[in-house]
Amino acid sequence: MQQVEEFRAEVRAWLADNLVGEFGKLKGLGGPGREHEAFDERMAWNRHLAAAGLTCLGWPVEHGGRGLSVAHRVAFYEEYARADAPDKVNHLGEELLGPTLIAFGTPEQQQRFLPGIRNVTELWCQGYSEPGAGSDLANVATTAVLDDVGEQWHINGQKVWTSLAHLSQWCFVVARTEKGSKRHAGLSYLLVPLDQPGVQIRPIVQLTGTSEFNEVFFDDAVTDADLVVGQPGDGWRVAMGTLTFERGVSTLGQQIRYARELSALVALAERNGAAEDPLIRERLTRAWVGLRAMRSYAMATMDVEQPGQDNVSKLLWANWHRGLGELAMDVIGPAGVELPGGEFDEWQRLYLFTRSDTIYGGSNEIQRNIIAERVLGLPREAKG
Ligand SMILES: Cc1cc2nc3c(=O)[nH]c(=O)nc-3n(C[C@H](O)[C@H](O)[C@H](O)COP(=O)(O)OP(=O)(O)OC[C@H]3O[C@@H](n4cnc5c(N)ncnc54)[C@H](O)[C@@H]3O)c2cc1C
Repeated sequence: MQQVEEFRAEVRAWLADNLVGEFGKLKGLGGPGREHEAFDERMAWNRHLAAAGLTCLGWPVEHGGRGLSVAHRVAFYEEYARADAPDKVNHLGEELLGPTLIAFGTPEQQQRFLPGIRNVTELWCQGYSEPGAGSDLANVATTAVLDDVGEQWHINGQKVWTSLAHLSQWCFVVARTEKGSKRHAGLSYLLVPLDQPGVQIRPIVQLTGTSEFNEVFFDDAVTDADLVVGQPGDGWRVAMGTLTFERGVSTLGQQIRYARELSALVALAERNGAAEDPLIRERLTRAWVGLRAMRSYAMATMDVEQPGQDNVSKLLWANWHRGLGELAMDVIGPAGVELPGGEFDEWQRLYLFTRSDTIYGGSNEIQRNIIAERVLGLPREAKG
């Protein structure tokens, strides 16, 4: 396998050569809370990356990936963030569903779906949460019933907070397939096409004024009988498998983006005089220290599985980033509540979107519950 530093130099050179012209205009676009920015153009960029073999780096070669190590993938994400390359559009397919199909899917499912993910021709969304099943995901109420001839699943129910459903062709859905089953039993993991009469997608307007996520209604929607991943009734295991891939290796790249945000905020504080306020100076310094601590933790745990590691990592970045949004508003001062151009500026949007950092991917409270029970061995919380 190619040396990591050699690969890093190759990625850096490729980005310098290719992130120019029309693609160069996409620098810095996209990202959490900004998915609407130049979506089609970012999709073209993502396909360009795919054609150069720069997507699905960790997938095995036999499934169309590069079979690269964690260290190689970290190097890619660091260079990607450093070049200010635009946010990719197929994160959910590449990082969540693809690895799930490789681990749990049939050869037919792998052949049917992996090329579309790799080449960015089919986009996916994640249909887990429901109005009554968020932190308590085992409360899923959406049902799927196989028809009498065993050809199709018929799906009924509602999903909510489904990121990018309005831009996706497919959804991986956790549904209850065993009548009367409770909690984790009797669930299945289905692959459902979204372009059909039984599916209605309603964007939800967020605090930021944009709509990154949606409500998705299934009213006798259908999917083929063989599009269940894993055994019918064993969907909880597959769904949890997907969540372990969610951790990803992009955290170190994400931290480079955070470092850029912090530098821009320091520059703003110097320009508008906020840096003379001792409390602001202290908070900016604390933010820098927090970022260093996060980086050290990520480096130290990159190759070693430690109990609670994902939960600690999620708590660190979510709280840090939410704090940065709050700090940005204090650096800006009263101007932070004005809308001169009729739209939120980047700092206002950052502040508003980072309110959700401590909720999605498992809220702070849920992360701490998991650490309490699985790492510290404290008694399990009582369930009502
Ligand atoms: C930006 C964004 C994007 C998202 N994208 C997707 C997506 O693509 N697909 C998808 O399926 N879902 C998605 N979600 C949903 C996300 O997974 C849920 O919001 C999250 O799991 C919390 O569930 P909930 O919103 O139902 O809140 P609830 O579970 O109702 O929680 C409400 C509050 O109660 C607290 N709480 C709940 N249970 C406990 C407990 N046992 N102990 C202590 N406190 C508790 C929570 O921490 C929270 O503060 C997204 C959410 C956001 C904000």
